[in-house]
Amino acid sequence: MYPNILRHPGPTPIPKRVQLAMAQDMISHRTEEFVRLFQDTTQRVKPIFGTKQDILLLPSGGTAALEAAAINTVSPGEEIVVITVGAFGDYFVSICEKNGFIVHKLEKNWGEACTEEDLMEFLKPLSNIKAVFATYNETSTGILNPVDKLADIVRTYTDALFIVDGVSCIGGAVAEMDQWGIDILVTGSQKAMMLPPGLAFLAISERAWTVIEANHTPAFYLNLLSYRDWAAKGMTPNTPSISLIMGLSAVCDLIDEEGGFSKTAQRHELMKNMVREAMKALSIDLLTNDEHASPTITAIRTPDGLDLSSFLSHLKQKYHLDFAGGLGHLQGKIFRFGHMGFCFPSDILQAVSLIEAGLQDFSYLFEPGSAVKSAQNVFLNSLRKR
Ligand code: PLP
Repeated sequence: MYPNILRHPGPTPIPKRVQLAMAQDMISHRTEEFVRLFQDTTQRVKPIFGTKQDILLLPSGGTAALEAAAINTVSPGEEIVVITVGAFGDYFVSICEKNGFIVHKLEKNWGEACTEEDLMEFLKPLSNIKAVFATYNETSTGILNPVDKLADIVRTYTDALFIVDGVSCIGGAVAEMDQWGIDILVTGSQKAMMLPPGLAFLAISERAWTVIEANHTPAFYLNLLSYRDWAAKGMTPNTPSISLIMGLSAVCDLIDEEGGFSKTAQRHELMKNMVREAMKALSIDLLTNDEHASPTITAIRTPDGLDLSSFLSHLKQKYHLDFAGGLGHLQGKIFRFGHMGFCFPSDILQAVSLIEAGLQDFSYLFEPGSAVKSAQNVFLNSLRKR
């Protein structure tokens, strides 16, 4: 069997070291051994979130952690702002509406970011806002919202909490939760964290804990106070994703070996630039501008005259290269190139070279080798700068 070259925006490839770590014998979560594992790994992931706060682990997908963030801070009938720049912003709106919050939607066109000015204007007529929610990395479009600047606006103009969905970029994009003033930062395991699905992470500010303590949500499984109480003992209130936490320990080793998380984030920036320059060399349009481009996902517009669905199937069948298509109204109009987690410049060169092969098979006119050359130039320049 040929390997599947998985270049989706999650789930993503799992390093062999992580797979082996997850294959260890099972242990009970009510043992000293687990306490050591939990305390060590949750301590070691803090730099990835840019926080000194404890990290809570939920045995779930990102959605449960997002819902937990929402229902532990906001009560039905209370007003919130949700910034939505794509499918996952809309998803957050659905979570909040389902829970009975009054949602003020700050919507941008898919492919655009929310700027500080957008948020400032939007907040002007509103009072009584309990929380502002934003997607850091919009997986459907490859936009990285400037959450550092948005946090500043929330802090300056409201008393609301600033809650951020970092599911598709934490582990690849720089996050300075404490310094920027993010109150809750959420992610999942299956994207830049190099793990299978099934483990979610929440980092929570002291300000947010004060709100959570006063909130009295009826939630049981998603009650964050109970996760905090148990985390203080190095455990979780229910059975955690033990194997994934073993894997997380190996993920931390890999990041240390790379030279620390700042180096990991630099690699993601480099891969983003390689992909973008490669597509520009082919005269294939990108959905987003360079300024707000995601370091983990690039949304690429369908090359002129190509049937996207046939092209993606062809890449998969003939070259084992697996990309995701567009979501919602971008279906057929873009494909999404995931370059996060266990992905390196060599993987980008491979994928770009196979895109060229696929384009040639579809008689698309381009200068053969031009995309590979552009990506390679970005890579070589980065080596010179070191
Ligand atoms: N938020 C974002 C930005 C995502 O990309 C996803 C999944 O792709 C989710 C939330 C939902 O996470 P999960 O599928 O792990 O529940």
